[in-house]
Amino acid sequence: MTPVLSQLIRPEIADLEPYTPIVPLEVLAARLGLPVEQIVKLDANENPYGPAPAALEAIHRTATYHIYPDPEQTALRSALASYTGRPIEEILCGAGADELIDLVLRLIINPGDAIIDCPPTFGMYRFDAGICGGRVISVPRRADFSLDLPAIERAAAQGAKAIFLTAPNNPTGNPLPRTDLLRILELPILVVVDEAYVEFAEPDHAPIGASDLLDDYPNLVILRTFSKWAGLAGLRVGYGLFPRWLSEQLWKIKQPYNVSVAAQAAAVASLNTITELRRRVQAIVAERERLFARLSEVACLTPFPSAANFILCRVNDRDARELKLALERRGVLVRHYRTPLLDGYIRISVGTPDQTDALLAILAEVTNE
Ligand code: PMP
Repeated sequence: MTPVLSQLIRPEIADLEPYTPIVPLEVLAARLGLPVEQIVKLDANENPYGPAPAALEAIHRTATYHIYPDPEQTALRSALASYTGRPIEEILCGAGADELIDLVLRLIINPGDAIIDCPPTFGMYRFDAGICGGRVISVPRRADFSLDLPAIERAAAQGAKAIFLTAPNNPTGNPLPRTDLLRILELPILVVVDEAYVEFAEPDHAPIGASDLLDDYPNLVILRTFSKWAGLAGLRVGYGLFPRWLSEQLWKIKQPYNVSVAAQAAAVASLNTITELRRRVQAIVAERERLFARLSEVACLTPFPSAANFILCRVNDRDARELKLALERRGVLVRHYRTPLLDGYIRISVGTPDQTDALLAILAEVTNE
């Protein structure tokens, strides 16, 4: 590209580090020379049981794939209104919670504006803020991964517009204590609570998370997704619970057809088959506890208790990335982050009991080498 044309690019974008997504399963299987079925995929917190049969049937039954999706997401939002107990006007769906993070930031961030994040945490807040030319004031978590409240208050006083809190946090798995949230909600900033994994913290009923605070705190936003508990990650559908002053503005900037016909149909069907999906969530939670106990017996790992569908482990006396790669060569995928805060850790998603057994067998092989 000639220099003049490249100057068309916004400088914030030209300077942006690209997001590192996970390698697609087929590509990785081919690279490893293993059949796809042999791969134990525990690197992206997906649901090993997949979509509910009713969701697959709904996709099959739908006859309107040649028609654009309902831009107002009417059926899905009314099902979500019953599920969450929130007014339909305060609910907006996106192509995954990812799209909603992006939309909120595009609504509030001018170049130079700041948000707060609390690493180690989900990377998309920083990434999407960067696209808007926003700054991120990082307030690192303490050694036990709890929030540093005085430092958050100081960061808010520097003029940040919003804070993003993941509850339970990804990748550390710890919940967000109510007392911390209440203190943060007193700050004059938007508080976005990302509850992508909340169903694994509250597996016995429709999650409450922070939603009982919405009426009292007009600065509170809650984001959730169908990717994890409902097994629809590939369809891309999430939802947000927003105060009305914010949802009115979000509707103006949302792409009209952002959630596909298939995704809307599958999400509605999922909400109609809650008992089945809840059983799977409960199975994942039970497996999380078994996996935690077994990982605690692995000498080179220190697992951290988790309220989500993954377990963060500190890797002792060996290189965490090397361990990740050794597992990968044998077809077991776990997540490693090349960031200073997480360099010595791996994150393992909770799979089926068979996947846990395969992981443990291969971990034993690798660590005895
Ligand atoms: N928030 C958190 C904390 C996540 O871990 C993820 C997915 N990895 C998302 C949001 C995005 O979810 P979705 O698939 O709905 O875009």
